[in-house]
Amino acid sequence: MRKTIMPSLIKGVAAAVLLVVAGCAQRTGLQEYKQTRTYFDTFVTIQCFYAADTDIDRTMEKCWQKLEGVNKTMNAESPLGYVSRINEFGFYGVQVSEDVYTILKEAVAFSERTGGAFDVTVYPLVRLWRTAAEAGSLPEEAALLHAKNVVGYRHILFEEDRTIRLESEGAKIALGAIAKGFAIDAVGSVLEAAGIEHYLIDAGGDIRVRGKNRGKTRWNIGIRDPRKKDHVMTVLQLTDCAVTTSGDYERFYTIDGKRYSHIINPLTGYPQERVISATVIAPTAIAADAYATAVMVLGAEKGLELIDSLDNVEALIIEQTPDQTLTSHSQNFPTHKK
Ligand code: AMP
Ligand code: MG
Repeated sequence: MRKTIMPSLIKGVAAAVLLVVAGCAQRTGLQEYKQTRTYFDTFVTIQCFYAADTDIDRTMEKCWQKLEGVNKTMNAESPLGYVSRINEFGFYGVQVSEDVYTILKEAVAFSERTGGAFDVTVYPLVRLWRTAAEAGSLPEEAALLHAKNVVGYRHILFEEDRTIRLESEGAKIALGAIAKGFAIDAVGSVLEAAGIEHYLIDAGGDIRVRGKNRGKTRWNIGIRDPRKKDHVMTVLQLTDCAVTTSGDYERFYTIDGKRYSHIINPLTGYPQERVISATVIAPTAIAADAYATAVMVLGAEKGLELIDSLDNVEALIIEQTPDQTLTSHSQNFPTHKK
């Protein structure tokens, strides 16, 4: 783990979001497709460069359909999806789609790898803190204890015929921490199956890139400080990987004037403190998404220990203490360029 303090960040509370920095245009004979739609309460952009013989209309239709499907079935708040069905009837067992079965298997694997810092069964605690924030007072200890007791990824049982059972009554899941990552990986697979080698998919901070921008240069991904909106902290030049930022800057709770993160530590039942932003680069978007959430919970020291133990996964973490902003990164995090 390397620890540095970025002087430019000390002034204000800094956090990062990802943005795509325009690349230079060069002639390659490739054609460009770029469109933005709204899913997961955010903007999703697909940009790709494709050869003239690609069936681009059909391919893009499949991509948008995939996003539509994941958005509908994996949202815990949508009464129609599998996640809601699991949350209502999971104790008795619910047969789910292949996608939902797969994402839950992956979710449990990420829980195991992060020592439970990432846990899709944390939803009862998320709801408790959300309700507390709406009421303007901290949750009651008894309610916290009760919610904490039903949380635990080991309560998810994988049974025959793609049936999911939640062993503990009252257990509930939410896939918000990985659904976007899962979805853009799936879109990437659709593009690759159609022979498209150069693309960028950006789902509001979850980005997956392959090949080159305009078939020529690596993709420039800026990490910016949203509390100083025009300030790009660093630009990453990436290819064939995914990058995600999880932060407390967009979604947080305020109770009694104090700001609480929307990321909950499943082991304590309390919102994580200190980490205001975690950017993770990984081979897949679901991994970047899951590790970004986990690192928020683990903090810089333990988080970077985990990241440094993983192949091809790097992280940049920003912490806020009462008097300073600390930035640290994993051993091979790409050196910054401004
Ligand atoms: P993200 O924006 O990817 O950081 O995910 C945020 C969402 O993940 C929250 O809205 C919660 O529903 C959920 N969440 C909060 N804490 C955790 C956690 N420790 N593990 C997994 N999901 C979480
Ligand atoms: Mg995440």
